[in-house]
Amino acid sequence: MEKAKNILNINNIARAVICLALILVIVVIVLICTRPRGGDGSATGDEYRSVVVVASGDTLSKLLTDQGFSNAQVLEIAKVLKSDANITSLRADSDKIEFVRDAADAPVSKIVIIPSPWRQVEITCNPDGAWVCQTVDITPDKRVVYRGGEILDGDSFYLAGARAGIPDGILAEVYDLLAFEMDFERDVRAGQKFSVLFEENYADGKKVDNGRVLAVQFEALRGNVKMYRFKTADGKTGYYDENGNGAIKSLKRTPINNAKVTSSFSTSRKHPVLGYTRAHKGVDFRASTGTPIPSAGAGRVVARGYNSGHGNYIKIRHNASYETLYAHMSRFAKGVVVGTTVKQGQTIGYVGSTGLSTGPHLHYEIIKDGKHVNPMTVKLPAISNLGKADKEKFLEYRKTLDSGIEQLSKHPDWFIQL
Ligand SMILES: [Zn+2]
Repeated sequence: MEKAKNILNINNIARAVICLALILVIVVIVLICTRPRGGDGSATGDEYRSVVVVASGDTLSKLLTDQGFSNAQVLEIAKVLKSDANITSLRADSDKIEFVRDAADAPVSKIVIIPSPWRQVEITCNPDGAWVCQTVDITPDKRVVYRGGEILDGDSFYLAGARAGIPDGILAEVYDLLAFEMDFERDVRAGQKFSVLFEENYADGKKVDNGRVLAVQFEALRGNVKMYRFKTADGKTGYYDENGNGAIKSLKRTPINNAKVTSSFSTSRKHPVLGYTRAHKGVDFRASTGTPIPSAGAGRVVARGYNSGHGNYIKIRHNASYETLYAHMSRFAKGVVVGTTVKQGQTIGYVGSTGLSTGPHLHYEIIKDGKHVNPMTVKLPAISNLGKADKEKFLEYRKTLDSGIEQLSKHPDWFIQL
């Protein structure tokens, strides 16, 4: 009798389990059937959205026609986009268009064009049927991060920087900045440390891109180099050294980035082609034929020609004191002639081996008040220095960046917000 009772109990438990399972299945089916569906897009609230990434060959009119717009509507929307958002064409693989409908089968009531992660253009249809356009700028959530490292034996700054996790674009900017103060051939040695503070831009908690370089420090052989980004009271942004002097100089010591110095400035050296000793009035940078040569500073071309020593050369006057000369070019840049005004960094010609030269390289001279000076050591004038009020503010701000570097170097996975 005892045994039969047990069997009865087990049967009851089994029935209860089956009942529960059935209820669960019904609940799941009900949930699936009542879930809203948005076709090829998705539905949030009462809106139906579909997102199109612009592909190569797509035009606005094609994409709009595909969504059921009439020719007249396409023309009207294109007109509004041009006049209110200055958008005349779409870029393949980067622009996105979102089409919003009030119901799955309703006509499009809103178009959102996303030309950059920080800008949205919304085109909506008024109750009277007219299309209006509104631009929304999205403010990135800026996080200041730190990357630092050390030069190892046989390292270049580029290698060490990449190893420290400095992103490519940021590293190139840092190199450009340091190049005003440093000779990467002579000032870089194993054991030297460097620090970079830069912004990362976030939207909705996700990293979108990198922002600006805020501070750079390098323990160079000839003394520590420190540079800080600062905005003056009248809204001009620049880089300054630790004392508030302009870090951006009117001339660059190394016009071509990351090029190796093959011969330095000297008052006497054995000429590689002529064989006898004579002064080398400039610095030679090895680079392959055709490498663009940027102007070391803003100025005006005062000579362009050929002579047996320099080959094809250009001379630029920068101000009352400074001139630079570029020799052995394979060719000149189009449109750069005597009298042309050039900007700092503008291509003036291309590396070659014309004139007295043993191989493709740039021979670069800086002439100060008519006298040749060593490009690697000459003290170069700053483009702008800070006024008294700005300088006081700068020195305060510098402390914030310095303490940021100190904190983050101990906790490289942290970030700060300024
Ligand atoms: Zn030379």
